[in-house]
Amino acid sequence: MAKLQAIRGMNDILPDQSLSWQYLESVFQRIVKRFGYQEIRFPIMERTELFKRSIGEVTDIVEKEMYTFDDRNGDSVSMRPEGTAGCVRAANQHGLLYNQQQRLWYSGPMFRHERPQKGRYRQFHQFGVEAFGIAGPDIDAEILQLSATLWKELSLSEFLTLEINNIGSAEDRKRYGLALTKFLKSKAGQLDEDARNRMLTNPMRVLESKIPEVQEALEGCPNLQDFVSEKSQEHYLKLQSLLTRANIPFIENAHLVRGLDYYNYCVYEWTTESLGAQGAVCGGGRYDGLVEMLGGKPTLAAGFAIGAERLVLMLDSLGKIPKEAHNPADVYVLVVGVNLAEQALELVQRIRTEYPQLAVVLHCGGGKYNSQLKKAFSSGARFAVVLEREETGSDDLKNVKIRRLLEDSAVSETVEITNILPKLGEFLQNSDS
Ligand code: ATP
Ligand code: MG
Repeated sequence: MAKLQAIRGMNDILPDQSLSWQYLESVFQRIVKRFGYQEIRFPIMERTELFKRSIGEVTDIVEKEMYTFDDRNGDSVSMRPEGTAGCVRAANQHGLLYNQQQRLWYSGPMFRHERPQKGRYRQFHQFGVEAFGIAGPDIDAEILQLSATLWKELSLSEFLTLEINNIGSAEDRKRYGLALTKFLKSKAGQLDEDARNRMLTNPMRVLESKIPEVQEALEGCPNLQDFVSEKSQEHYLKLQSLLTRANIPFIENAHLVRGLDYYNYCVYEWTTESLGAQGAVCGGGRYDGLVEMLGGKPTLAAGFAIGAERLVLMLDSLGKIPKEAHNPADVYVLVVGVNLAEQALELVQRIRTEYPQLAVVLHCGGGKYNSQLKKAFSSGARFAVVLEREETGSDDLKNVKIRRLLEDSAVSETVEITNILPKLGEFLQNSDS
C-alpha cells in the first residue's frame, strides 16, 4: 500500500525542527509575561459567521482561503484563519471586556487554503497579542515595543523593518472608498477582472494588487491621507513620537492597508528582506470597531499577529538558534555489560534529581561500547558516564567513568560511584567556564 502523506501545505514539525520552535515559543512567552500579558486559548474552529463578520466578506481570506464546511448538524463552521476574531468572541462571551482593560496573548495553528510555497502554508502558526479597553496611542507603542523586544532577544532586530500607516477611521475609509471607486471606474479598461470586482465591493484592496497594469492604472488615484480625520492623524503623529522616544525606527508606507476589514487608525507590519517574497513576519494595528461588530459593547482594541514559520525560517537561515537549543542531551549514560540495569536506572535518577536543569539520557537496549559512544556523541551531550563490567557478577559496581565528549579530547576519569554527583559537578563547572 502506498505510504500516506500529509495534506499539502500542512507541515510536520520533526524533532530537530521542534527545538527551534521551542526556543521561539519560550522567548515569546517570557516576553509577553514581562509585559504583563495573560494567555487566552480558544477553539481552532468557530461558526463561519464569526469570520465573515469580523474579517469581512470581501477579503482574500473569507472569499477564497477559509476551510469551511457543514458539520454533522448542517451548521457552517470554519477552521480559524487568524486569531483576533476568536479571541474577541471568547473575551466578549465571558465578560472579559466589560468596563475593563485586558492584555491578552495567544498562540496556535491557523488555516488558510493558499498556494503553498516557502513561508506560506495551509496550516501555519501565529503568536498574537491583543489589548482591550485602552485608547492609545500609548498602548499601540507598547505593543510595538513588545515586538521590538522580541526581535532583540532573538537577535533579529537588524533584519526587520517596521512599516506603519494611518488608515483613518471606518467613516474616513467609507468616504475614501467612494472616491476610489469613482476613480477606478474611470480606469476600468485597464483593470483585471479581480480588480474590477473589488472596485465595487472593497476598492481599497485594489491598491494591493501585484499586477503591473493595475498598479499603473492606480497612478494619480485619490490618496487616503487626504481623507483621514484629524483625530486619526493626531493619534498617528503621537504614536510616531512615542516610537521615536522609545528608539524604535519606522518607515511610513502609504500602501499598507492590511487585508482585513476591521482595522482603523494605525496599522503596521514588520518586514524582512531575508525571506524572499514572503517578507511580512508580523502585522497588526487598532481595531476599535470589531468588538461591537461581533455583538459586544464598543471596546477599544489593538493587537498584532506574528507568523511563526517565517520567524523560524529566519532564525534557522541566519543561524540565530543558540547552540544549546539543539542538544537533546547534556549527559549520556552508557551501560556496557550485564546486570547493570538496576544500578544504571538508579544512577541516572540521582543525577537528574541533583541537576534538574540537565537532560540525562540513559542508553537502553545494550550494545557494544563503541556503538553506544557513537550515540552519545550524536546526542550532543557534553559528557558520558560509563558503567562498565567485564564479567558476569552480582556485585554492585563500585566505579564508573566520566568522559568528556569533545571531538578533540577523550579526557576521562574513573570515579567511585558514590562520588559521582560532586565529580560530575566539577566536570560541568569546568566545561562552563
Ligand atoms: P501575507 O501578505 O504574507 O499574505 P497576511 O497579511 O495575509 O500576510 P496576516 O493576516 O497579517 O497575514 O497574518 C499575520 C502574519 O501571519 C503574517 O505577517 C505572516 O507572517 C503570517 N502568515 C499569514 N499567512 C500565512 C501563511 N499562509 N503561511 C505562513 N504564515 C502566514
Ligand atoms: Mg495573506
